[in-house]
Amino acid sequence: MNLLDLDPQGLERHFAARGEKPFRARQVSRWLHQHLAGDVASMTDLAKSLRASLAAHDSIEGPTVLRDTTASDGTRKWLFDVGDGNAVEAVFIPEDDRGTLCVSSQAGCAMDCRFCSTGAQGFNRNLGVAEIVGQLWHANRALLSDTPPAPGSPGGVAEPRPASAWPWVEAGRAPVTNVVMMGMGEPLANLDRVIPALRLFLDDHAYGLSRRRVTVSTSGLVPQMDRLAAECPVALAVSLHAPDDALRDHLVPINRKHPLAELLAACRRYLEVAPRDFVTFEYVMLDGVNDAPAQADALVALVRELPCKFNLIPFNPFRGTGFRVSPRERIVAFQRRLMDAGLVTTIRRTRGDDIDAACGQLAGRVKNRVIRPLATRSFAVRP
Ligand code: SAH
Ligand code: SF4
Repeated sequence: MNLLDLDPQGLERHFAARGEKPFRARQVSRWLHQHLAGDVASMTDLAKSLRASLAAHDSIEGPTVLRDTTASDGTRKWLFDVGDGNAVEAVFIPEDDRGTLCVSSQAGCAMDCRFCSTGAQGFNRNLGVAEIVGQLWHANRALLSDTPPAPGSPGGVAEPRPASAWPWVEAGRAPVTNVVMMGMGEPLANLDRVIPALRLFLDDHAYGLSRRRVTVSTSGLVPQMDRLAAECPVALAVSLHAPDDALRDHLVPINRKHPLAELLAACRRYLEVAPRDFVTFEYVMLDGVNDAPAQADALVALVRELPCKFNLIPFNPFRGTGFRVSPRERIVAFQRRLMDAGLVTTIRRTRGDDIDAACGQLAGRVKNRVIRPLATRSFAVRP
């Protein structure tokens, strides 16, 4: 069993099955997700016999890193191998007061949104729990390490970076303080693995993030929004992108199955249990497609009486796309129109665009590329 595959309850069951007390599971969880242990040998306060049994029956298999790139603005992107020539990406975005990791949930995506390069690549497969959680596990390890091993080099013991590198990091805490499920894939189409991963993000004996600091973004899978609300409510972002069904049917094809009225009703239900008292609507700004003043007015009418905020995302181009980003003045005018109607509206700052790490630019095809994976390493990071 790969221990990174087990959520808090799964870990307890796993230990109970071999006659161990539940507190052992919590102890191992802290080693895995707080001390970021890469091997059982480093779990020094476990009984030797338990360590031996773990080493014999279980493993800690973190993701295999194909590429690790840092942009000029400090944004850092990892490309992880998920087999069969596919890869997924995670992006770390440092800000003044927080460190956000954008996490992928699927290799490719079946939703086929017209303006998204992940959509253009098609659906390959769902990621497993360890592949989702492993993105956060690895990011924290790599960020805590002063000199992360270069791809292809053997591992070593990593020294913690000086705390001053990230002003928001409290002593002994991990650099990633917020997680957004906004990488590759539709997280609500993979809930059986996303929910256990979310539970680890939230668990006090794992990453211990508050529900408000974990956000799931969806293109609008209505029944799955209800399931998320029932099983693991976290902050919700919804990719709206159009003020009417005709345009949304075209841009976000899942709208044909769950049209806007149904989607907004699901948002309302979600807010009854959500950790935040608003939904964030993402709205990609496409030149001449969805950026007219009348469309801003239609949006205002559409979301009337729904507590929400808007996040306008300047479209990020990718090879083969027919869309263009709206000119800056048009985005600002659109924002003003929403704000004048009382809607809190921000424009997403594009981060990491010199390393293709911006929204909608993540792609995972690595076929036919010579790659030298980082062998599954075992290097300890001090808590
Ligand atoms: N699949 C989920 C989450 C991942 S995408 C979803 O669609 O919500 C995160 C955000 O980036 C979504 O709002 C998505 O629509 C948007 N996006 C996709 N492609 C983009 C592009 N090329 N430029 C800007 N934003 C894009
Ligand atoms: Fe999938 Fe989201 Fe891209 Fe749509 S925007 S294709 S749901 S990743």
